[in-house]
Amino acid sequence: MTLHELTEALREGGIDNAAGEARELFLHFGGFTPAALVGQDPSLWDPRLSDALTRRLAHEPLQYILGECAFFRETYDVSPDCLIPRADTELLVEQAIALLPQGGCFADLCTGSGCIAVSVLANRTDLRAHAYDISENALSLAERNALRNGVGDRVAFHASDLLREGITGTFDALLSNPPYIRTGVIDSLAPELAYEPRLALDGGEDGMVFYRAILSNCLGNLAPRGVILFEIGYDQAEAITALARAYGLHADVLRDLGGNPRVAKLTGGGTNA
Ligand code: GLN
Repeated sequence: MTLHELTEALREGGIDNAAGEARELFLHFGGFTPAALVGQDPSLWDPRLSDALTRRLAHEPLQYILGECAFFRETYDVSPDCLIPRADTELLVEQAIALLPQGGCFADLCTGSGCIAVSVLANRTDLRAHAYDISENALSLAERNALRNGVGDRVAFHASDLLREGITGTFDALLSNPPYIRTGVIDSLAPELAYEPRLALDGGEDGMVFYRAILSNCLGNLAPRGVILFEIGYDQAEAITALARAYGLHADVLRDLGGNPRVAKLTGGGTNA
């Protein structure tokens, strides 16, 4: 099949970024260089490509088909055991990189693929981290991603049900992109989401259960002058601000490149802050 044929097949199947995805599939399965695809229409006859097309037309996310994805300045292994890292989450990573004190230690709660912990560590070689998730499969993937990105010696992974239990230790920051979609709306979202673990998406009836649990179970683990960075849904700015206030914290809500509220920065906690 040619690059053009693949692009057309994806477009007819309702895939938005058909040209971009066709290029990525050619780069991945054909070993082409990006330059070899500019203004050219190469052919690739590989059963893996036809298989990939069938899967993509069934709306399986491209990243699961490729088995990896780019996030921040790193590349991650991904599988249906984890949420696919989103560009939106890079805002939280940037903030953590800017705010954490020299030599500090942070917790990443609901680490999934490990993308938050690993990208922060990869870009701040002075830091250490503890990362938590309920899913053992996600944790082994996260561990692989830590090794793949050269930070395996500065992060420890822990299996933990954060809705029910706390963590141990004192941290300069608590970082989390927890599941935050309201249970009732998950099934009405993009078909691609059906391939991602529901556990990584479902934030309970009001989408807020993890924020509440983390504040009630882990606030005592925040160091003086520590900061909490939560990724939030575009419509959760008010709810997170009210929740923070209930815990005596101040919330600053930062917007992503699309102009949507995306990261809540909670300060004023910690033992003698
Ligand atoms: N922390 C991971 C991410 O940002 C996983 C998030 C999740 O499972 N909700 O992609």
